[in-house]
Amino acid sequence: DPQLNQNYSFENFIEGDCNRLARSAGFAVAGKPGGTSFNPLMLYGGVGLGKTHLAQAIGNEIKRSHPDKLVIYVSCEKFCQQFVDSLKNNTINDFVNFYQAMDVIIMDDVHNFAGKEKTQDIFFHIFNHLHQSGKQVILTSDKPPKDLAGLEERLLSRFKWGLSADLQVPDLETRMAILKMKMYTDGIELPGEVIEYVAHNIDNNVRELEGAMVSLLAQSTLNKKEIDLALAKSMLKNFIKNTSKEISMEYIQKLVCEYFEVPVEMVKSKTRKREIVQARQISMYLSKSHTKTSLKSIGAFFGGRDHSTVIYACQTVEDLIDTDKKFKAYVQDIQKKLKMS
Ligand code: ADP
Ligand code: MG
Repeated sequence: DPQLNQNYSFENFIEGDCNRLARSAGFAVAGKPGGTSFNPLMLYGGVGLGKTHLAQAIGNEIKRSHPDKLVIYVSCEKFCQQFVDSLKNNTINDFVNFYQAMDVIIMDDVHNFAGKEKTQDIFFHIFNHLHQSGKQVILTSDKPPKDLAGLEERLLSRFKWGLSADLQVPDLETRMAILKMKMYTDGIELPGEVIEYVAHNIDNNVRELEGAMVSLLAQSTLNKKEIDLALAKSMLKNFIKNTSKEISMEYIQKLVCEYFEVPVEMVKSKTRKREIVQARQISMYLSKSHTKTSLKSIGAFFGGRDHSTVIYACQTVEDLIDTDKKFKAYVQDIQKKLKMS
């Protein structure tokens, strides 16, 4: 199938906590397309976190284990373009029939449906037809269905029928494993400390991680030099922000207060107003995780409190991150800003 890219497989999709559910759901779907409750299977997550890779791997695996099944991979953008073309050429029926004849449809980046009502209508009908016939639908998106703005409610409600599984930023261990696998498949070797350095410092997404390695290799080939840690550090200057600058508690406090629009002085005061307490607790939590300051010093900085207050604050924040999605999004937002500085 020309739409599927053979380079994307389950074997070269490294498993980690960041993708375990999505990966295993994908594998289950590939083993029994249309025959699980994961229909549609919706994979969502930010840029460069492996949505296309995993969706393609599912398609390739279905082709391998069910060679007779018709599998189509199409980006949402391409689907929209094809629809417009078919309107122009009076070939809507062919367009719809083509997709309705599939056993498996993989549509990448469905957030791109936003605002395109007519294309959504057509896809709604194709979706219903396939779903009712026990065919498999696999979707990817940059957000979970509930947060997809600009999509019709009836389409979104379908998207919520099956399973939505997210892809998160890989942790350090997974990033190292991805780099090692890349080295292995490309037949190259880099010193362990270089791999560690890259994995440590490039922690936004997998595409950037790969980009850094490619850039490293290209420069070493051009300069005919072996890559050691010192060379890697100087070569990756442009990739790595914030290597030397340390994050301070002052800075965390400023960022948090700006974010929640509370006056900086209030955080250090005795006030127990809800939004101030929240800003204070998040500041303590971020100080613990992003600076090397002791709990005692953190407590002292935020208005002369003792270390047990800091422990309590961190615990409260962690609990809220686990239970309150909105709160979690706030903290992640602030963390992103911290890292960009
Ligand atoms: P997205 O579609 O979410 O933007 P991609 O699927 O294009 O991201 O992934 C970006 C790059 O990272 C690709 O080269 C992909 O092969 C690689 N990648 C992402 N996640 C993994 C993983 N878990 N294991 C190995 N490679 C990965
Ligand atoms: Mg993609």
